[in-house]
Amino acid sequence: AKENGRNNYQFFTDELNKSAHERHTLGLDLRYALERNELVLHYQPIMDMPDHQLHSVEALLRWRHPQHKLIAPDKFINLAEETGLIIPIGEWVVKTVCEQINAWQARGYRIPKVAINLSARQFRDKELINNIARILDETGVAAHHITLEITESMLIDNIEKVVETLNCLNAMGIRISIDDFGTGYSSLSYLKRFPIHTLKIDRTFVRDIVTDRSDHTIVATIIAMAHSLEMDVIAEGIETEEQLNLLRAQHCNHYQGYYFSKPVTAAEIEYMLIKPASR
Ligand code: C2E
Ligand code: CA
Ligand code: CA
Ligand code: CA
Repeated sequence: AKENGRNNYQFFTDELNKSAHERHTLGLDLRYALERNELVLHYQPIMDMPDHQLHSVEALLRWRHPQHKLIAPDKFINLAEETGLIIPIGEWVVKTVCEQINAWQARGYRIPKVAINLSARQFRDKELINNIARILDETGVAAHHITLEITESMLIDNIEKVVETLNCLNAMGIRISIDDFGTGYSSLSYLKRFPIHTLKIDRTFVRDIVTDRSDHTIVATIIAMAHSLEMDVIAEGIETEEQLNLLRAQHCNHYQGYYFSKPVTAAEIEYMLIKPASR
């Protein structure tokens, strides 16, 4: 109530950063966000070249908080992790993606691959595989439509368990992407141990690729080595044509960023989907 009239996004963000009270309140609200139907998925296209064809989409979570408008995931994923709410929220994300895939299919669209982000706690959850298998089964969605994005840091501890989990997902037909690649600790030789299909180059490298010689070199090296390990590469955070051209010159495979599109609603992404029958 004390925030009346001051609930614009910027203010809220600043306040959240300094106020434990706000954080606590938000934590309580988050408990009800699911049942009140306040969570929503947006989708950002990932493109192929040369003709800007849609390759896949990434599902990105937002919270339509009644007082604070749309809240970005960076503002509540940590909270969800700490409270354990990430488990039911994560399940909701997978289920919602699968229902969306069925909706697209029912409307005659060719189904794009959909990438889903997993946080550390979700990835460690021993029910992860069962839950995903159950949702795929209940919705009838084929596993090959789904890619799971995990970050490098999730690969580091308990490697045997990680290998087991990833092998299991891989055997189900689910693809694995390493998100924010280059910011963690892994070397590519180490990545060989895991069944990984795609590396996503972190957008901090892409951001300065045009001006920063070493970022340029890092990106070139990641792409070359990923390809020699037969992995795909997605560059994220592309905002300019110059960045895109440099990445294309280095034979990056797939491209994501505001240059093409911000994350948009499911209805808006439909404009980018293909109807095979109408071609
Ligand atoms: P991420 O997985 O690295 O997602 C990419 C983020 O970069 C997204 O922010 C996206 O909107 C933003 N982005 C895309 N293109 C550009 C660009 O050209 N320039 C810039 N400056 N930014 C760009 P978003 O949607 O706010 O998500 C932030 C993070 O929240 C994600 O980072 C991911 O780690 C996490 N997240 C999002 N959805 C989920 C989810 O369903 N579950 C979990 N566990 N985490 C999620
Ligand atoms: Ca991601
Ligand atoms: Ca990322
Ligand atoms: Ca990130």
